[in-house]
Amino acid sequence: MKKLWRCHVCNDVHLGNKGPEVCPTCGARNAFVLSDRAEALEIIGEDHPVIGTPQEVVAAWRQFADQSPTVRLTEKDEEVELLSQGVLENRNTKGQRYCPCRITSGDLRKDLGLICPCNFTRQRTYREIGECWCGLFIKRDGT
Ligand code: SF4
Ligand SMILES: [Zn+2]
Repeated sequence: MKKLWRCHVCNDVHLGNKGPEVCPTCGARNAFVLSDRAEALEIIGEDHPVIGTPQEVVAAWRQFADQSPTVRLTEKDEEVELLSQGVLENRNTKGQRYCPCRITSGDLRKDLGLICPCNFTRQRTYREIGECWCGLFIKRDGT
């Protein structure tokens, strides 16, 4: 089961089976100690920027796609707009920015995989037609 880890040098929080050997934020080695939910929330809570508008959601998606060698954002701007509203609605009603096209179970652990962007390159739809389930992210030509 995944656990929360905290870099004791820079307080970076990581979710995983174990802490990274090298901290991606400060570069310290073997610096991660087991944390817990309360501690992690306290660390990332207050000054953690909250994505609260559709524009911010889209900006986060763009940043993700721009740095990806394999996927880009769809050019259908209206779709992007609708999907960004959908994920925010899910955040407000279900607590996380869940995929607007899929159904959550209500169990956070199971639903973690539905937070957008999800791990869509493993989806069958992506392998077959080169798009995520909602058509938001598209495989780049030639990749
Ligand atoms: S299928 Fe697409 S829209 Fe849905 S969560 Fe995954 S990346 Fe986001
Ligand atoms: Zn660190």
